[in-house]
Amino acid sequence: MDKGYVTSWKEFKWLPGAIEGIRALNERGWLVFIITNQACVGKNILEREVLDDIHERMQRDLQRNQASISQIYVCPHRPEAHCACRKPRPGMLLQAAREHRLRLHDCYVVGDSLTDMITAKEVKSYSILVRSGLGQRDEQQVRSLELADHYCETVDEAVHHIIQKEEAVV
Ligand SMILES: [Zn+2]
Repeated sequence: MDKGYVTSWKEFKWLPGAIEGIRALNERGWLVFIITNQACVGKNILEREVLDDIHERMQRDLQRNQASISQIYVCPHRPEAHCACRKPRPGMLLQAAREHRLRLHDCYVVGDSLTDMITAKEVKSYSILVRSGLGQRDEQQVRSLELADHYCETVDEAVHHIIQKEEAVV
């Protein structure tokens, strides 16, 4: 989830409940991915090596807490590049689906922006808008376009919703 650009490990902070949420999903056999626009790389605000280092440190944090993210997909391009991967285009989701044999209509996309919700709908994933960060700003628009399948306050709530929904099916 983007809260402006994070350009150093010092600025990075897990959202409350995020690590626990990832672990809870892992424990139930779910793979978790991060799909992130990082135009700051294309704009030379952030070096790719620094971004990769932040991601490695995130992975180590997770490992220490018995949680894991299968892969972090990054679009490093500037918006003007009109690449296929920058959200709201679904390139990164399609790539994840290919590489990890995912059925996207059985996947959940948890995000905090209108862009994330459009991306989810492009591939018919179940979309959850978290109201933290940009979520509050974009909620009105997301609602009027009916782009989210579910709304919640925190990542933690999103994870609980997913687990409840899945357990109701089984
Ligand atoms: Zn891209």
